[in-house]
Amino acid sequence: MTLVVQPSKIVCIGRNYADHAKELGNEVPKEPLIFLKPPSALLPPGGTIVLPPVSKQVEFEGEIGVVIGKRARQVAEADAESFIAGFTCVNDVTCRDLQKTDGQWTRAKGFDTFCPVGPKVVALDWRTLSIVTRVNGAERQRGTSSDMIFSIPRLVAYVSAIMTLEPGDLIATGTPAGVGRLAPGDVVEVEIPGIGLLSNHVAAQESS
Ligand code: ZN
Repeated sequence: MTLVVQPSKIVCIGRNYADHAKELGNEVPKEPLIFLKPPSALLPPGGTIVLPPVSKQVEFEGEIGVVIGKRARQVAEADAESFIAGFTCVNDVTCRDLQKTDGQWTRAKGFDTFCPVGPKVVALDWRTLSIVTRVNGAERQRGTSSDMIFSIPRLVAYVSAIMTLEPGDLIATGTPAGVGRLAPGDVVEVEIPGIGLLSNHVAAQESS
């Protein structure tokens, strides 16, 4: 399959669900915590997540993805909804061990294949989105947009006050509790009702 978005940047939100912040021993942030993933990490539905040998702890993070529909710069929270084209499933794949040792998260979250996205972009009500993550068919995460610490319009407004958002840009809105490790041979699925299922296989990197 092909990519459903061609973002100039992927903006991710950390610790946007209280139960996930707690499971990793982190405080709930007072304002949105943001970081970037490189577009080179994008992976279409059905693509293979490749585990880099440098990490011993690669984890899935199922997330609701916001796709920007028109250029957004310093938009007000009350107007933010009109800048959203729709929503899609995202897996913010993370080397948890490198995230801890590096401090900066770019390496831990930036490997090729670490941003599965899709299968569609659908315009839905941001207030009523829900998300489920499964590994090998077993449910591991479940959350709803109403569980978020910072709402989707708040996130669009917040990010647009920092950097201009272009059509197609992607905001990954944070992950609910239940994150866990991926191993070669796993199949990880992120599903948002009304959008569909993002399914990816996991494989070890072949030595060159
Ligand atoms: Zn994440």
